[in-house]
Amino acid sequence: MTDPLRIAIVGGGTAGWMAANLMARHWHEQRFKITLVETPDIAAIGVGEGSTPSLKRFFEVIGIAETEWMAACHATYKVNIRFAGWSPGSGITSYSHPFLTQLDVLTEDAFVLNCGNRRLGFDVPTQPDDFFLGGVLARQAKAPLAPSNFPFRMEYGYHFDSALVGQFLRDHAIAQGVTHLSRHVEKVERTERGDIAALCTREGDRIAADVFIDCSGFAGLLMERELGVPYRSFKSNLFNDAAVVMPTAAQVVLPVETTSTALSAGWAWSIPLTSRVGNGYVYSSDFLSADAAEAELRAHLGLKQDDTPARHLKFRVGQLERHWDRNCVAIGLAQGFIEPLEATALHLVLNTVEQFIKRFEQGGFSAQHRDAFNADISDQIEHVRDYVVAHYKLNTRADGDYWRANRENEALSDNLLEILETWFRRADLATLLERQKGLSHFGSASWHCLLSGYGAYPGLAVDQRGDVDFYRDRQIGAFLDGCALNFPSQASVLAGHQTCSAETLPS
Ligand SMILES: Cc1cc2nc3c(=O)[nH]c(=O)nc-3n(C[C@H](O)[C@H](O)[C@H](O)COP(=O)(O)OP(=O)(O)OC[C@H]3O[C@@H](n4cnc5c(N)ncnc54)[C@H](O)[C@@H]3O)c2cc1C
Repeated sequence: MTDPLRIAIVGGGTAGWMAANLMARHWHEQRFKITLVETPDIAAIGVGEGSTPSLKRFFEVIGIAETEWMAACHATYKVNIRFAGWSPGSGITSYSHPFLTQLDVLTEDAFVLNCGNRRLGFDVPTQPDDFFLGGVLARQAKAPLAPSNFPFRMEYGYHFDSALVGQFLRDHAIAQGVTHLSRHVEKVERTERGDIAALCTREGDRIAADVFIDCSGFAGLLMERELGVPYRSFKSNLFNDAAVVMPTAAQVVLPVETTSTALSAGWAWSIPLTSRVGNGYVYSSDFLSADAAEAELRAHLGLKQDDTPARHLKFRVGQLERHWDRNCVAIGLAQGFIEPLEATALHLVLNTVEQFIKRFEQGGFSAQHRDAFNADISDQIEHVRDYVVAHYKLNTRADGDYWRANRENEALSDNLLEILETWFRRADLATLLERQKGLSHFGSASWHCLLSGYGAYPGLAVDQRGDVDFYRDRQIGAFLDGCALNFPSQASVLAGHQTCSAETLPS
C-alpha cells in the first residue's frame, strides 16, 4: 500500500477551507491526509461576501445543497452587479453586469447587434438590463430558480456572511477527515534541496507534508516570506488600497444584486444578506484619508450618528510571480488580489485549486506541469485585472483628481489597449476576444455590457434609419417578461430554506 499523500494548508480563511474541502472531495477515494493549521492570533479577513457563479459550482462539486448552507450563512441570490454613478458624463445613471444563463443565449445576439448599430451612430437601446434575464429578475426581486418544466440552466452567484461560510466549510471539511489545528506557524523547515519539509508551530508541533498550501492571506507566509517568490504589484493599474466596512440593518425586500456605487475616490458596495446589509467603501489612500472615507461612507448610507462601528482595512493589489513554487502552492489572498469590484477572488480560488489538482495528478511535481499551471493562473488573473481596470479607465466622472487620474492612466496592458481600440474603431470585438481569450472569465457579452453600460459610444448619426433596432424587432422585452413569470420571489425561496434548515436541526 502506498503512503498517503500528506497536504498541509496554512490558513483558515475562506481560501484555506475551500481548498481543504475540494482536495478532500477530489481525493476521497485515495489515501490522503490533509491538515489545516490556522493561528488563533490572526482572524480571517472577514470580508468577501459576494461571489460569481463559481461558488455555485463549488458547492455542487463538494455535494452541498443550497438548502443546507444558505440559511446557515445568511445568504441571498445574486444575478447581477449594478454599477451606479460610474459614467454620469454619458447620462447613464446605472447599468448591470449580469451572470449569463442558458436562456440569455437567445437574446445576446440582439444585444451585440444593437451595440454594433449604436457604434455606427444609430439610436437603439443598448442597456444590458433590457436584454438579459438578470435585469428583469433584479427588477422583480426574483430568485434565479425555475421549476423543472422551464428547463434552462441558470447561472448565478450569492451574497453571504463570509465568517459563517468559513465556519460552515470548516465543519464540513472536518467531517470529511481534514485535521484542524489552531496553532501559530513560527518556522518552516526546508529539505537539503530547498523544498518545504515541515511547519513548526509556536506550540511545539512539527507538521511534515508532501505538499504545502499557502492560504495565509496577506501574510504571504510560505511563498513570499519563506520561498522568496516576488510579488508583482498592480498599483499602476489599480489605485485602490484601502477599505472601510460598516454594516446596516437588513432590507425588507432583499435585492438579488450587488450595488457598486462610485464615490469621490473609489466605490461603495452594498451586499444584501438576510441578517444585515454589508457595506464597504474601497478607496485609494493616495487620494483620501481613512477618516474622510469613513465620513463619506456614513453620508452615502444616510447614517446621521457615529454609532455604527466601522472597520478599516488596508490591502494590496498584484500577484505572485509564481503561484506554485517547489512543493508549495499559494491560494487566495496569499497568491494575489485584484480588488473586489467584480467579486472574483473566490472564483480564482476555485480555479487555482482545480487547476492544481489537475496538473498535480498529470505530472506530480514536474517542472513542465508546474510551469503550465503558473502560466495559466497568471494569465487568468491578468485578464480579470484588465476587465476591472477598464471600469476605471472609462469613467466619465467630473468630481476630482482620483477619477481624472484613472481616466488619464496610460499603464494599460496590451490586451486591454487592443480591446478598447477595437471597440472604438467599431471592429469586431467578439473575434478579438476569442483570439485573446486564454482562460478569461469575462467573455464578449461582459465586455459589451461594460462598454455599453458606460455609454462608450460615438455621437448619434444625423441620418437615423428606422429598421435597426433588434430589441424592438425581436420583442426582447415581452420575451424576458414572459420568462420571468416562471421564477419565484426570492423571499419565498429563502423562507423555504429556513423551513428546511429548521427541519434538519437536532431535536
Ligand atoms: C475589502 C475587500 C473586499 C472583498 N470582497 C470580496 C468579494 O466581494 N468577493 C470575493 O470573492 N472576494 C472578496 N474579497 C477577497 C476575499 O476576502 C478573500 O479572497 C477571501 O476571504 C479569502 O481570504 P484568504 O482565505 O486568502 O485570507 P484570510 O481570510 O486573510 O485568511 C488568512 C488565514 O491565514 C492564517 N494565518 C496567517 N498567518 C498565520 C501563521 N503564522 N500561522 C498560522 N496561520 C496563519 C490566519 O489565521 C487566517 O486564518 C475582498 C477582499 C477585501 C480586502
